[in-house]
Amino acid sequence: MKTPRHLMIKGWDGKKFSDTTVVIGGAGAVGSQLAITLARIGIGKIIVIDADILEEHNIANQAYTRKHMGMSKVSALKEIIGEIGDTEFVGVRAWVQDVNFELLDADIILGCFDNVGARFFLNMIAVTSGKPYIDAGVEEFSGSVRVVIPGKTPCLSCYPSLLDTNKIVASCSTDSIPFAYFTASYAAALQAMQVVKIVLDKPVDSYTFFDIERGMTDHVELKRNENCELCGGI
Ligand SMILES: [Zn+2]
Repeated sequence: MKTPRHLMIKGWDGKKFSDTTVVIGGAGAVGSQLAITLARIGIGKIIVIDADILEEHNIANQAYTRKHMGMSKVSALKEIIGEIGDTEFVGVRAWVQDVNFELLDADIILGCFDNVGARFFLNMIAVTSGKPYIDAGVEEFSGSVRVVIPGKTPCLSCYPSLLDTNKIVASCSTDSIPFAYFTASYAAALQAMQVVKIVLDKPVDSYTFFDIERGMTDHVELKRNENCELCGGI
């Protein structure tokens, strides 16, 4: 058998990936693609939290097919990922706020929600547990990925205005944020890159933003907000 191409990348250490457990909050457009991407690069254990059942309108912009309709998103992902490699997959069909993260014992927390409240919840779990959190948000053809290393890089609460507070209101209503499938693919790729950096002990990018329509991706290093009500005391 030929060697998978990613194993030929300079500095790649497959054992570090197979020894890593990640938990992904949200199995929608970004989360489903991210889970499959991380399985393909050999992450040892992937836990995905999502409460939803697959409906027809999900098929267009999430990594599922018609045969999965009516299944829970986590069951469908388990089926897909079981066909890829040796990754252990655990689906948790629940609302993220109801999950005991201590029991999951993941090395890295990934947020793939369009719900700002859920993203701040994962940020709080990361800061209080001292674990890295990689957050993604998308809208139309643009988005951002933030890496929270508690005590080192800013948490989401350090600069809450970077997450449009209008969306906190939107997330409580039935309005959803419009975006293209490939915008979610790109955000998932940027999140996967930050997972690779953490696993291989490379410096992370605390705030990456992109606009695919303009062909632009950039990152800035933000300083922590010493007065942050969540991480300021760390
Ligand atoms: Zn903070």
